[in-house]
Order: sequence, then C-alpha cells, then structure tokens
Amino acid sequence: MLKSFGLIVVAPPPITERTIKLGIRHSADMMCYPFKVTLGNFIEEIEQGANCLIMYDSRGKCRLRHYWMLHDLILRNLGYDFKMYPLSLKNLLKLIKQFNPDLSYLTIIRKLRQSWKKLKDVEDSASYMIKEGVNIGIVGEIYTCLEPGINLNIDKKLRKFDVNVYNTVRLSDFIKASTRTSLLEKRIFKRTAARYLNGPLGGHGVENLYNVLFLCNKGIDGIIHLLPLSCMPETTIEPILDKICADFNVPLLRLMVDETNSEVNFDTRIETFAEMIKRRKK
Ligand code: SF4
Repeated sequence: MLKSFGLIVVAPPPITERTIKLGIRHSADMMCYPFKVTLGNFIEEIEQGANCLIMYDSRGKCRLRHYWMLHDLILRNLGYDFKMYPLSLKNLLKLIKQFNPDLSYLTIIRKLRQSWKKLKDVEDSASYMIKEGVNIGIVGEIYTCLEPGINLNIDKKLRKFDVNVYNTVRLSDFIKASTRTSLLEKRIFKRTAARYLNGPLGGHGVENLYNVLFLCNKGIDGIIHLLPLSCMPETTIEPILDKICADFNVPLLRLMVDETNSEVNFDTRIETFAEMIKRRKK
C-alpha cells in the first residue's frame, strides 16, 4: 500500500532468530512477545537504511497503543537516528499526504480503496470453511495469528495434515472494527460474548469470544487458540474459551508462543491435534 503512494519502503527482513534475540535483549522481560519481535524488526530495518519508522497506534485499550512510544524511547537510547510516525486510522490520510505532498486526497483515497480490495481478495481466498473434510478454526492475538515467522507457519503445517484452516483473525476485520463499520456483523454472537465479561477488554479478547461462539455454531471440528507470552486479553479469556468449547463439545488446543518455543514440540502438538480431530470426525 505504501509503495502505491510512491514511497520507498524498507520492509522488515524475514523474522529470524537474530530478529527475536535483538528484540528480547532490549525489551522488558514481561513485555508482550509481539513488542519484542517488532522491536527487533525496527533494528534490522534501521540497519538496512530506514530512517522513518511507522508503527501502528491502535488507540485501543491495550499495550499496542503505547508500542510506538516505547520503541521510540528504546531505539533512541540505543543511539539510533530516525523519526517515528505513529499511524492510526485517524491520521492515515494526513500522514500519507505528509510523506508525499504531490498526492491529492482524492488520489490517496482511491489508492486506499484499491489496497483494501486487494486485501479482501487475499483474505477471502485464504480463509473459508469446507463442507467435506475437517475444519480447524484459529482464534487468538492478531499478530500471532497472522505472522508466520511467529506462529511457526501453523497454517501451512496444518494444511499438510489434510485439514482446512479457518483463521478468524483477519486484518480487514481489525480495520472494520477500528472504524466501527462492522457493528452489525456477527451481532448475535457479540451479544452473547458480552455477557461473559464485565466491560471492554482490549486487544482481541472480545473478538475471540464471539468468534469462538461463531465457530462452534457453524459446526467447526476443532479450535486452536494462539497467544503470545504475557498477552493480557488472551490470558484473561482463557477460562471463558475453555467453558464455551466444553459446552459445545469442541476440542480446543491452546498454543503459547514465545522465544522459548521448540518447533519440534509445536509440530508434534499440532499434528496430534489434527489427527485426533480427523479420527473423531470419522
Ligand atoms: S493484545 Fe496482547 S500482545 Fe497485543 S498489545 Fe495487548 S497484551 Fe500485548
């Protein structure tokens, strides 16, 4: 999307052990895992010549809204020279105009719509339920569910075991929720989910509750809950997800993701889960 605005983009290099180690070395121990990894991303981008950093500011209720300030502080303490730009849906147009003053607001909006359409096409072709065969749903923290470098490519691995993966966490839903354009979607499940909590939770806590209710009602065969270490909303909803899945008799596998993960252990667990679900369905 940024490239379509004529900007020179230094995308983060693929996440490696080095990226993760860099982030961990300079983050508070109990900070959530996505913060550490994105800090490592920034360091590697600066090393590649980036001098303007963009971090999404959710303006929500969780730590994500503070990431950019903390990243900025830590990177400056490390002696890096750069400019940090928090990006939110509120300042999106203004920021793009600031980066490329030659663009009119109309052009920016047109290009944003094109990017939105591309995003929807990619998501719609990647996530759907099948009638014949086994469907496994994924819920959890957005970065962990969407970044293969962090979730050890769980989507691809599960598909190798001959199951269909329905990832309920979609970037477009996140954008729609932030712009309040999805208030009517899954309304009945949202109402039920709200009864389990005493108000807003932040992150994707509430979204995951209603998505699990949605999956269970759609007859999903099994659910995987993916969460990063020390994620507040995801750990808060753990007992609620357990109860919903037990009530619907849907098997649930919870996978914590952090820097100590062993890929072999991870693979064994998802393979066992997939096989168990397949046998159960038969
Ligand atoms: S949702 Fe979880 S991982 Fe994301 S900022 Fe909040 S605590 Fe951290």
